[in-house]
Amino acid sequence: ALYDIPDISNPRYVRVNTLKMDVETAVLELQKQFKVQKDDLVPDLLVLPPGSDLHDHHLIKNGNVFMQGKASSMVAAALAPKPEWEVLDACSAPGNKTVHLAALMRGKGKVIACELNEERVKRLKETIRLSGASNIKVVHGDFLDLNPEDPPYSKVRAILLDPSCSGSGTASARLDHLLPSSAPGQAADFTSTERLNKLAAFQRKALAHALSFPDVERVVYSTCSVNQVENEDVVKSVLPLAASNGFQLETPFPEWHRRGLPVVESAECLLRTDPKEDKEGFFIALFVRRSSGNQSEK
Ligand code: SAM
Repeated sequence: ALYDIPDISNPRYVRVNTLKMDVETAVLELQKQFKVQKDDLVPDLLVLPPGSDLHDHHLIKNGNVFMQGKASSMVAAALAPKPEWEVLDACSAPGNKTVHLAALMRGKGKVIACELNEERVKRLKETIRLSGASNIKVVHGDFLDLNPEDPPYSKVRAILLDPSCSGSGTASARLDHLLPSSAPGQAADFTSTERLNKLAAFQRKALAHALSFPDVERVVYSTCSVNQVENEDVVKSVLPLAASNGFQLETPFPEWHRRGLPVVESAECLLRTDPKEDKEGFFIALFVRRSSGNQSEK
């Protein structure tokens, strides 16, 4: 296809699926063909030279390693769930971050993977099968319809919310001008105000919902968008609710230099990656509950 352009300038990242293989073994295997380094920031992430062709590699085909970018691999790592926890992946297909969560939990505890779109549920199940994880339960439904008070959701300790977004930080968005032209306002329109406002309305609702689960201690909100309206503005809109429920923003990957736009308090806690400098534009916010807030007063 026209837009299947080989990426020859960026390093290749692969995440070792520690449910199936340890990092040292993966390094030894990959070193037979490629120069391999461990990433300096994200555990279990390996860096290979630009242009390394891994598609047919046996470690990819059997799910021992997953092709996953650095920014994308930061998301589940920022949530840092404990192995015995119950964790909810709110918008989960195709499941890269779901199986990353399962690996971080060493296959223990439980991951509930919610996904609205039926076709994408199939992809999610395929990713889970490939990962070998046995602690993931798929829920085909709308995250907004999950009742936080219902078991098992009432026991969920961490939520990863990676909702539908404009994708404006991804390579496909930046190669947009190479796509066959579409009718005005159709497809691949990453910036239409109406579309962005719709997405942001859902993102705000979903983040507020995530912050309302009674036992949740950690919530990560992430997008692969560079738009303030889908990132800092969404965080800003939930800050009063977050505070009243006892949540504060914390700083994922404090060593990382690129932080949120200074349009919201605690912007330095937020994490951004830059589509040009870091090859992908991602956004990550981490909410941590230190107290039960004033929920009991309601
Ligand atoms: N976290 C995934 C990964 O790393 O593989 C990518 C998630 S993708 C950005 C967002 C997903 O949310 C899509 O598959 C979409 O169908 C799903 N989605 C959108 N609205 C939803 C809703 N209300 N409830 C559950 N899933 C939803």
